[in-house]
Amino acid sequence: ASDGIRGLRAYDPGHDLVALRHRFGAQGLLELGSNENPYGPSPRVRDVVLAALDSLHIYPDPLGGELKRALATKHGVAMDCILLGNGSHELLMQFAQVFSGPGSDVVAAQYGFSVYALAAQAAGARFVAAPALPRDHAMPRGHDLDAIAAAIAPSTRLVYLANPNNPTGTWFDRDALAGFLQRTPADVLVVIDEAYAELADAPDYASALSMLDRHPNLIITRTFSKAYALAGLRIGYAVAHPGLVAVMERVRESFNVNSVGLAAAAAALADEAYLQATSAYNARERDALADALRQRGIFVYPSQTNFLLAEFGPRSIELERELVVRGVVLRPMAGYGLAECLRISVGDAAGNKRLLQALDEVL
Ligand code: PMP
Repeated sequence: ASDGIRGLRAYDPGHDLVALRHRFGAQGLLELGSNENPYGPSPRVRDVVLAALDSLHIYPDPLGGELKRALATKHGVAMDCILLGNGSHELLMQFAQVFSGPGSDVVAAQYGFSVYALAAQAAGARFVAAPALPRDHAMPRGHDLDAIAAAIAPSTRLVYLANPNNPTGTWFDRDALAGFLQRTPADVLVVIDEAYAELADAPDYASALSMLDRHPNLIITRTFSKAYALAGLRIGYAVAHPGLVAVMERVRESFNVNSVGLAAAAAALADEAYLQATSAYNARERDALADALRQRGIFVYPSQTNFLLAEFGPRSIELERELVVRGVVLRPMAGYGLAECLRISVGDAAGNKRLLQALDEVL
């Protein structure tokens, strides 16, 4: 293996969730560690998935034509601007493999999503983390686009930015993004990871999709795992200039997206009303949970996602363990250099109530 791969560690889920689910049985394990959607997918997905079960012996459509056509229509782009992935994670990894490598730099933000560093290292590129905004900023520890721009060197091939970001939940606005893209050299690819975009409702949040025309070096990734609640089926996609998509299509595994997933994603995409309703529930519960935590004296980062980053201080690791004993799973943040924080996925109203009760017992 290359030096980059030798230095990597395999994904650590933190807990054996299957064993925990078994242990908590009927009472149920409250899983708020992985930013999953508590409302589940559109009810239309169920019938489509059942119908897809009759064709399990057949390979999926290697072109993903139906889903690509629907996505192209939704985003107002040509079909050859869409690339499908086995989750957006697969695409994020592959961008680094294809567009970077030994001798090149990949730039991302401190407290950016962990996959970016992994992708760079696996590709043998040098990973450069630009410093985040300070803790006392209006976007605490959010992306500092000036610092990102300053970290771009002649050897930089790729920049990864998440908007909104995981694990901070923070976001950057249209002007900051437009200014950044203006300043970025045309031979540097900018990946804007919009995994949580459908859940963002702040007036100053802007998707990069509208900037694609002006910036052929822009790649936007989205996923069906979050707002569409299809995490288990692994479907993500990218929207980019057809030239970039064509290069990626050469290395893509022919059947990377499975047939059940393709059918489910198309059905979920067609139910816009369900997406709007469940995203509104999420925003309401997110804001209520943030208020409830703040009332308890806990510092909560502003979020446009389906999770909250919350500071519990030096006790956070112990707290996390005490919550697991009560059947509540949160995500420790030590791996991100945020050991005093826990990341809490926003549940439904009943889940959030149970979380607060458990927290009140252990705090
Ligand atoms: N980007 C971000 C910012 C994420 O938080 C996640 C999931 N945690 C992903 C990408 C990957 O999601 P998926 O592979 O399920 O599309």
